[in-house]
Amino acid sequence: MRLCDTNVNNPTLARKPNMCAHILTVEDEVAIRDMVSFALERHGHHVHPAGNVTEARDIMAVQRLDLAIVDWMLPGGSGLEFVRALRKDALFASIPVIMLTARAEEQDITAGLDAGADDYMIKPFSPKEMHSRIKALLRRSQDYQDQTQLVRGPLTLDSAAHRLYANGEELALGHTEFKLLSFLMKHPDRVYSRAQLLDHVWGPGTFIEERTVDVHILRLRKSLKPLGAGSVLDTVRGVGYRFTLK
Ligand code: CA
Repeated sequence: MRLCDTNVNNPTLARKPNMCAHILTVEDEVAIRDMVSFALERHGHHVHPAGNVTEARDIMAVQRLDLAIVDWMLPGGSGLEFVRALRKDALFASIPVIMLTARAEEQDITAGLDAGADDYMIKPFSPKEMHSRIKALLRRSQDYQDQTQLVRGPLTLDSAAHRLYANGEELALGHTEFKLLSFLMKHPDRVYSRAQLLDHVWGPGTFIEERTVDVHILRLRKSLKPLGAGSVLDTVRGVGYRFTLK
């Protein structure tokens, strides 16, 4: 995560720069969406607004995110289900999520937190309070991500920066290859079948041909080989694939 510009007029702020995050907002009410965007952009954050779950998924396919603010009642799909799905996705499972909703009953709040939201805000809300809560969540998540730089042999996975390096060189990978290699790196020396990989990397209930996995493994090997890391992905005949160091 890159840092926002420090405030040169205020030495306290200059020592503690704000984190400048990519924030997804999933909200169908335009007035609220605009208000959230305005409040967050003022603090230097990049806001990626979506009006429904489908638009949110389109954004997630191409944009690295640091936090998501999700409305509960959305056209064409519930925000609660969306949060549940995020938590099951290997790449997005650790993104902080705030549910922003008009549903104020105790059972609603419990359901939102149980679905995987980190925080819950009830409409109408104070943009100032929202920003404070975001700052708290980002601080915690940044601390967490700083500890999650994973080094395995020639490969380094930097989760915070969403980057992968082989022998110090950054790998130029597509979104799916990045997810696939990250997943295998996090679970070394275990063989995964194509179906299991589809489940873990693409998500449960994905209807994609198992051959797709082979195509992505092939692409990964092509990217890794010139950087001297071509042998980390084993084919286990008749079973599947495994990340291993020789
Ligand atoms: Ca709504």
